[in-house]
Amino acid sequence: MSYDDQNIFAKILRGEIPNDTVYEDDHVLAFRDIQPQAPTHVLVIPKGPYVSFDDFAENASDAELAAYVRAIGKVARAEGVAPVAGGNGFRMIANAGEDGVQEVPHLHVHILGGRRIGRMVQRAET
Ligand code: 5GP
Repeated sequence: MSYDDQNIFAKILRGEIPNDTVYEDDHVLAFRDIQPQAPTHVLVIPKGPYVSFDDFAENASDAELAAYVRAIGKVARAEGVAPVAGGNGFRMIANAGEDGVQEVPHLHVHILGGRRIGRMVQRAET
């Protein structure tokens, strides 16, 4: 699957659509999900054109990979959900492709916390 530069997160990165930014650096942008599923629901995206986590893992530079992982930790800490910083915990989700039910074809990790998130996987789609 090739990258579609008209996807909604590409438009956010170009500043064509507003977002509620919680963290930004040279390689990463993190912003609040428009339809939050938990008190904390932040999307962390690389600035590079990567469709999904497997694309990112294969094609991103070491600097991008490191920045992305670090950013996820920074966001979790800043949101007060990181256990090592006294938070009550969180879940990271990265949906990929059709079976993963990925809606936006630009890699994003959801960080969900602030409530009990529940079972890891549902047996059937709802
Ligand atoms: P996916 O199903 O692809 O893993 O998740 C896509 C997420 O993007 C959804 O949780 C959805 O609410 C969020 N989303 C879709 N459009 C926008 C938008 O324009 N702004 C923000 N902040 N989130 C969006």
